[in-house]
Amino acid sequence: MDNLLVMKFGGTSMGSADRIRVAAGLAAEQHAHGPMVVVVSAMSKITDLLLDTLRKAEAGDQTDLEANLHQLSARHMECCSLLLPPERQPAAVAGIRALIEDFSRIAKGILMLGERPPRSVDEAVAVGERLSALLMAEYLEARGIPAAAVNAAEIVATDALFGNASPLMEPTRQRVVKVLRPLLEKRVLPVVTGFNGSTLDGRPTTLGRGGSDFSASILAAALDARELWIWTDVDGIMTADPRLAPNAQVLDAITYAEAAELAYNGAKVLHPRTLAPLAERGIPVWSKNSFAPEKPGTRIVPKVESPQGVHAVTSMADVALVSIEPASAALSGTKVMARSLDALARANVELLAITSSSYQQSFCFLVRQSELERAKEFLEEDLALEFAHGYLRPLQVDPHVGLIAVVGEGMRGTPGLAGRIFTAISKHSINIIAIAQGSSELTIAIVVNRSGLEKAVRAVHDECGLGK
Ligand code: ASP
Ligand code: MG
Repeated sequence: MDNLLVMKFGGTSMGSADRIRVAAGLAAEQHAHGPMVVVVSAMSKITDLLLDTLRKAEAGDQTDLEANLHQLSARHMECCSLLLPPERQPAAVAGIRALIEDFSRIAKGILMLGERPPRSVDEAVAVGERLSALLMAEYLEARGIPAAAVNAAEIVATDALFGNASPLMEPTRQRVVKVLRPLLEKRVLPVVTGFNGSTLDGRPTTLGRGGSDFSASILAAALDARELWIWTDVDGIMTADPRLAPNAQVLDAITYAEAAELAYNGAKVLHPRTLAPLAERGIPVWSKNSFAPEKPGTRIVPKVESPQGVHAVTSMADVALVSIEPASAALSGTKVMARSLDALARANVELLAITSSSYQQSFCFLVRQSELERAKEFLEEDLALEFAHGYLRPLQVDPHVGLIAVVGEGMRGTPGLAGRIFTAISKHSINIIAIAQGSSELTIAIVVNRSGLEKAVRAVHDECGLGK
């Protein structure tokens, strides 16, 4: 659709009646200029509350379940009463009740079963976004802007990987045309739930935690939008986490590739999968702060003209380094590596970095601590014989490490940068444990002792001249 804008509001931007008012105001301002679609997250902390409720239900904890349901209702009812004029309250209250009833029915089913089937979890947890979409749409209507809450289960088609589904773009495009187009043509502003979708045969799914950014980019791509604006509670994408590097600054512009690297390597500002659907059409994204909308934010674009050096530094603390080492040269290192990677792929463990070296053909890789046990389990099972016969040394795990990722398209072909970065780290007597740089030279990943992580981030940030 020509000139269409997609806006997405995160949980804090939807966190209270006041915040929803501000968000609706930002949407209304742009809606006056042309067609747009709004995508919303659940109110802040609500997804956590819903997931906690389902866990309590599974554990058979009825008292906690009731307490959580009460909290869920109280938060939305309070927001409703502060947000809407009296004449619009009854309809909105009825809508909220019906959605909470949907959730409660599933939670009670789980309580009875003592089990949480993934598809029921996905159906239940999407209620957070359905509630916030309802509130936003009602409020827009109250302000005289025709709006309609839309459940993304009707438009975002996904595979059946419950809890972490991936979009099927062509069917999504078709559903979007069928459901959203008629609204847009009537100048009705669709307020679409982030986070959820459904399989082709209609089973509810979700796109993974923090997935509303991804929802917004899926819709922007499906609608061929002119731009996507992602509203959060920070000023944009920064050169580093300001809690670690107090002189960090907001970037004016970065590329898709850089933003994706930052997201994958721990920067919290954007869901890592967000940019992929936009690449084909090169739709620009703005990361903006709904708490300070006058600030420009960061523009994320397919390419920048002359990229210069390092753009940003990010880090991850909750990681572990796993090393696999053949005990004799008789074993093919390549085969061990191939089988290990296969085991990790089947375990659905994400490799954050991987390096290999030396004639012993040992190699090591970095995983999230939350995925460590699963990684070990699959490796130990798949390589059980080699371990048992002593062809491989026992798995070595170092949980006291952290990852630094230095990101910038301009690093390509710039000699001396890596040297300067390593020197800056070692000046603080921080030991570098492993290093990985792909041939795209977009990111240098450095594994250091956990205790030196923060200092290393500051050191690299300063060395690369990224601070204010
Ligand atoms: N509400 C979902 C979550 O908290 C999705 C999102 O906020 O993006 O994970
Ligand atoms: Mg969120």
